[in-house]
Amino acid sequence: MPKNLLSFVYKSLFIGLMGLFLACQNTQKTPPNIVLFFVDDLGWQDTSVPFWDKSTPLNQRYYTPNMERLRAKGVQFTNAYSTPVCSPSRISLMTGMNAARHRVTNWTLQPDVLQPMEINHPTLEFPQWNVNGLATSDSLPYTVHATPLPAILQQNGYHTIHVGKGHFGALGYPSADPRNIGFDQNIAGHAAGAPASYWGEEHFGNNQVNPPVWAVPGLENYHGQPIFLTEALTQEALKAVATATETKKPFFLYFSLYGVHTPLMANARFIDRYTALDLPQQEAKYASMIESMDHALGELLDYLDRNKLTNNTVVLFMSDNGGLSAVARGGEKHTHNAPLKSGKGAIYEGGIRVPMLGYWPGKTTTPRVIDQPLIIEDFFPTLLDIAGIDSPQTVQTIDGKSFAGLLQAQSSTSSHPLYWHYPNAWGPTGPGIGSFSAVRNDPWKLIYFHEDQHFELYNLKEDIGEQNDLAKEHPQRLAQLAQQLTAHLQATAAQMPRYKTTQQPVPYPTDALRQVYSE
Ligand code: CA
Repeated sequence: MPKNLLSFVYKSLFIGLMGLFLACQNTQKTPPNIVLFFVDDLGWQDTSVPFWDKSTPLNQRYYTPNMERLRAKGVQFTNAYSTPVCSPSRISLMTGMNAARHRVTNWTLQPDVLQPMEINHPTLEFPQWNVNGLATSDSLPYTVHATPLPAILQQNGYHTIHVGKGHFGALGYPSADPRNIGFDQNIAGHAAGAPASYWGEEHFGNNQVNPPVWAVPGLENYHGQPIFLTEALTQEALKAVATATETKKPFFLYFSLYGVHTPLMANARFIDRYTALDLPQQEAKYASMIESMDHALGELLDYLDRNKLTNNTVVLFMSDNGGLSAVARGGEKHTHNAPLKSGKGAIYEGGIRVPMLGYWPGKTTTPRVIDQPLIIEDFFPTLLDIAGIDSPQTVQTIDGKSFAGLLQAQSSTSSHPLYWHYPNAWGPTGPGIGSFSAVRNDPWKLIYFHEDQHFELYNLKEDIGEQNDLAKEHPQRLAQLAQQLTAHLQATAAQMPRYKTTQQPVPYPTDALRQVYSE
């Protein structure tokens, strides 16, 4: 064989083998599908899965067999946190930023202006926070400019699906439509953070001459049908996954349920179990919404099993804030998350600690319970880790830390402090509801209330119900945590309210402490 021909054959063989090698590598590197099952307002005790070290009467009331099913094979996170209300959690999830940094610190809906509950506050004047939500450019007023999670996944080959509640931007702003933040498909998501109605018979709120802003868009096929919103969304989510699998791309399904947010409306399929318990009517309705949520999870897990997708689909379960307890519920207010104190809107554990589960096939090899604290912005780097996306380019600074290691056997991640910042008014009132900043540095939690500059210090390992304020007993610990919290607020350029009487800003925690000691 002539020398040139031999060289050609060797070269061809080499290129062919390299191609085969790279093809094999690419096959191995195909990232998994990711499902984030994101429930609205689901409290830490709103499930038959105990997240405490014992089962409670609330665990015994609620029936969530599919959460039990996920928990039986996956990882249970007992110290998972969101922010006290919807929008800050959702923006932290989509940007990886802490609320103090992204400044979408309260719930969004009306564009450009603070809402009456903030304008009319008796003592505090609130900062002009980012009332218009998330933006992918820097040209829109009162928005946080960021590179959103779904856009990064989309750019890296994922088919991205949004189902349910959006709530990323104010009315009329681009991010009110999830397709503008990187979702290929949007089912039923818009600016509003709650549905006008859960009932198909009521067209999900569209059966009025002038439907309210809360009327759920895009589910016309179900109008007039005897179907609960959660069930209609589930049917649409499964159809979207079927379409996604045909694209041969990995999919990201952000299944963002409207439930179990108000209005509290019964799902007739599940209500009987709870009316039999002799509960207040509102509580029976609420429990039926929880079971409906769990049924949706079951339908999804069944679909993944049936279509042989389970072994290549990461499933994460999370809630966007603590359980509602200040309004609309039956029974005594502020007790619906017991043993946790207070509920949605509050900086106490009932407002921010939420149920969380996860399963990563091939990596989660044995069921585990993880007590390490983590927070909603940690999902951003975690999902990118799962998708195998290294060092993505983002315009924003990422505060979240990946917990991908915790989903894997034998792996640990070092604990990090968690921060909350809420220079706002929610509307309803109650214990721990108000304008505040806080830090959790395990096992300690320091809360700084802006209105009267008072501090509360708790040891959560010994006192999960925050009954024993240790601020006076541990002044050094208090000072150290106040310093840590101040450093975070300074580093993120956190906005503070002003006092209406003096027009002075609420001081950062260390300055407030200094004033106390100098008096
Ligand atoms: Ca919520």
